[in-house]
Amino acid sequence: MSGPIDRTTGYFHAELERMDPSTRAAYLNRQLTDIVDHAYRNAPAFRDIFDGAGVKPESIRTVDDLERLPITEKTQLVEIQKKSPPFGGLVAVPLKELGRIFASPGPIYEPYELHLEDDRWSQAFFAGGFRAGDIGQITFSYHMVPFAMMLDESLIKLGCISVPTGVGNTELQLAIMKDVRVNAYLGTPSFLLALADRAEALGYDLRKDIKLDVGFVAAEMLPESLRDQLESRFDMLIRQSYGTADIGCLGFECYHKNGMHYPYNVIVEIVDPATGRRLGPGEVGEVAATCFNRTYPLIRFGTGDLSYYTDEPCPCGRTTHRLVRIVGRVDQVTKVKGMFIHPGQADDLAKKFPEVTQYQVVVTRADHKDSIFFTCELAAEDVDKEALKARIEDEMPLVLRLRGEVQFLPAGSLKSPFKKIDDRRVWD
Ligand SMILES: [Zn+2]
Repeated sequence: MSGPIDRTTGYFHAELERMDPSTRAAYLNRQLTDIVDHAYRNAPAFRDIFDGAGVKPESIRTVDDLERLPITEKTQLVEIQKKSPPFGGLVAVPLKELGRIFASPGPIYEPYELHLEDDRWSQAFFAGGFRAGDIGQITFSYHMVPFAMMLDESLIKLGCISVPTGVGNTELQLAIMKDVRVNAYLGTPSFLLALADRAEALGYDLRKDIKLDVGFVAAEMLPESLRDQLESRFDMLIRQSYGTADIGCLGFECYHKNGMHYPYNVIVEIVDPATGRRLGPGEVGEVAATCFNRTYPLIRFGTGDLSYYTDEPCPCGRTTHRLVRIVGRVDQVTKVKGMFIHPGQADDLAKKFPEVTQYQVVVTRADHKDSIFFTCELAAEDVDKEALKARIEDEMPLVLRLRGEVQFLPAGSLKSPFKKIDDRRVWD
């Protein structure tokens, strides 16, 4: 046996992950120029998008130039494909060069290259503590959708061994984990929790019979309380990533878990969903991305997810910006008095008041004036409601950036599922 493996430092690609800002800008501009020219020449759908916006490919030479192009949302990809199935002119290589074709909900057909060139998920694995020689059980679905296949190839690219178990079969998954001495988990946090609970019910010792060292979780929100619980039950490290099946990895946590680093080889923008204008650090907007995949180049692809980024340095030494967290979906955003309100802000407000259990922001309109209400249920009825109301109302302008009124509801009034933001305004 060799000594303990260092899972907390190092890089998948040290030079590219630690570029200084001007080297990074030059690198991304070069990649962008390349992919824009390639997509315009070879993918008719992109030619249409450029021509429709009156933009010549040679006028997109820097990341800043991207603002001239519209954001292409997933719903638009579905429409483009419908007109000329399967790919609607979005693929930039001859079809015979593809390795696989996936079918994601939408429906949207995903072209998949013969061998995955992209190393963004491999960067994510390394940052999350995976090392060559690890044996990783992949519990995402291998059918129809490309995600598990991408992870599978990326794991092997890092020098790990894949155990492609797919979804479900909890007991069988546990038996495989034990027999094969799987030490890395890839899947949703909720499935890992289900595995932990079932394993204990079956009499397994989570630290002795199952030897997980690292976990890569995605596709779901990861509450810190759940991460803490799973890390301590299995005695493992769990790090999360963010991305979409269409465009791949857009962010991953490092050991310091203070946001999700952009991979070095993708352009991630946070944009105003209404205008496509790029936003700065700390400003909430839609995540849009441009990847350099020559088979399926997506340029200013709108994910529909809301987030914000930080450019503060990270102790890990990676110099890419970080998505701080995903705060909701674009279709859940409401604009009130010129300000966006998103579900994450309702969560932030509620978090400051442990007395509050269920909550909802309600927006109404009367006499051409908008009003905001924070309606909530309380854990107990024996609190000083007047004082609590005043405290929450003082906090509202700080968190929501708007003043509003607090209303208490009887317990059980908000029945799941309900919207965190309920916009009841009627526009005539
Ligand atoms: Zn970091």
